[in-house]
Amino acid sequence: MNDTRSQRAVVIGGGLAGITAALELADAGLGVTLVEGRPRLGGLAFSFRRGDLTVDNGQHVYLRCCTAYRWFLDRVDGAELAPVQARLDVPVLDVAHPGGPRLGRLRRDPLPVPLHLGRSLATYPHLSLAERASVGRAALALKKLDPADPALDDVDFATWLGRHGQSDRTIEALWDLVGVATLNATAPHASLGLAAMVFKTGLLSEAGAADIGWARVPLGELHDTLARKALESAGVRVDTRTKAESISRTENGSWRVELAGGTLEAEVVVLAVPQKETHDLLPEGALDEPDKLLGIGTAPILNVHVVYDRKVLKQPFFAALGSPVQWVFDRTDSSGFTGQGQYLAVSQSDAGDEIELPVAELRARYLPELEKLLPAARGAEILDFFVTRERTATFAPTPGVGRLRPSARTRADGLYLAGAWTATGWPATMEGAVRSGFSAAGAALSTLGRPHVHPLQEAA
Ligand SMILES: Cc1cc2nc3c(=O)[nH]c(=O)nc-3n(C[C@H](O)[C@H](O)[C@H](O)COP(=O)(O)OP(=O)(O)OC[C@H]3O[C@@H](n4cnc5c(N)ncnc54)[C@H](O)[C@@H]3O)c2cc1C
Repeated sequence: MNDTRSQRAVVIGGGLAGITAALELADAGLGVTLVEGRPRLGGLAFSFRRGDLTVDNGQHVYLRCCTAYRWFLDRVDGAELAPVQARLDVPVLDVAHPGGPRLGRLRRDPLPVPLHLGRSLATYPHLSLAERASVGRAALALKKLDPADPALDDVDFATWLGRHGQSDRTIEALWDLVGVATLNATAPHASLGLAAMVFKTGLLSEAGAADIGWARVPLGELHDTLARKALESAGVRVDTRTKAESISRTENGSWRVELAGGTLEAEVVVLAVPQKETHDLLPEGALDEPDKLLGIGTAPILNVHVVYDRKVLKQPFFAALGSPVQWVFDRTDSSGFTGQGQYLAVSQSDAGDEIELPVAELRARYLPELEKLLPAARGAEILDFFVTRERTATFAPTPGVGRLRPSARTRADGLYLAGAWTATGWPATMEGAVRSGFSAAGAALSTLGRPHVHPLQEAA
């Protein structure tokens, strides 16, 4: 048997993609070093301290169908800290309804697909009877689409919805309600292929597929503390505050990774950094058209954080219609807030128009909107108000982006790519990031002739 520990791998980037690749390579017996430029692991899904609060940079949710991210949670021993709701249940509050605010719910019944959503759709109050019927017809048409068909990537989701009889209201009150949060773009700016992936997998694959999961602890506990523990017990050396500056071939054919303050040599390098950084680090000839990576756009997400002096929201979360507010989450327990009151995070996807607005302007906009949605917030004292801005939260899921996303293998032996932005078939999600880590590690191990059982196949 080979002495596999002498086969060394360097994983660059300690987001979910890099952590996954490092775990997989170490589990297969390679000696792995993970280098991360920042002081912490977790990449785009992290936490920080603000006074007594531990704040997530942005609300992160996943669905029961996110099998790879669920594998990740299990692998770092964090599944119990980020459970999935027993059954899909999303309160949707429309404040623009002429008769006064009206609450609807998107929830499933314990029935097989597609009947599981039938009653919820039939009684969804934010659409007319004709609109509800049209949604059912469009869902059946969507079920026939193959998200992997490259032709779908050339079409925008709104055009397809229009062709399938969806009114502007149906798009706003249903398709975009889910689509903006999962794709980080409205229907006119989203690839039909990616939209089909989300809706088909989430709503039409299995009855429980869209049940929502979220961390009941700060993200940093899962993606940094527990991930680091799992990596270290797998034998991975984790070097944070260590930025990779260049990658080149050595004379003996292995790779040399220059770091700010050192050098590493390895047979395998997994580059698990964002697309722009990947472009800058890629050695000459590793991709046929490296500049394609620069064509992959980015999209921002804004979170508005409000601490009230009293409880203003009874539900763990809700979505809003007829308001600039998109989704609101109760963050009180998960942030460690111990005082009297409640901490809410307003999660605003596709936030290009607001991402640069000053805090005072966002405060003047969002506090009155929250009062409209939450009567108990009227008259409540604001103990804290702040915003987190992620300008490059996700890759932009625009039509045509599929042609730009590279697969894990490069033209350079021993060099692999990972990241939610690579060709996973998924939009920019934790699920996509973990899947990309599997792909990169799987490709590396197969080139080395090492057996590799894909964790999701193992689970199946
Ligand atoms: C506000 C917000 C909300 C989101 N909401 C959701 C959600 O609800 N559900 C969901 O599934 N997804 C959500 N996402 C998306 C999800 O967080 C990302 O898709 C995923 O975390 C990306 O992981 P990654 O490993 O591919 O990349 P990243 O997290 O970007 O990791 C790349 C890492 O590489 C490091 N790095 C870069 N250059 C170097 C270098 N030269 N040397 C060493 N290290 C380097 C970076 O510091 C970073 O840690 C959200 C993202 C944001 C920002």
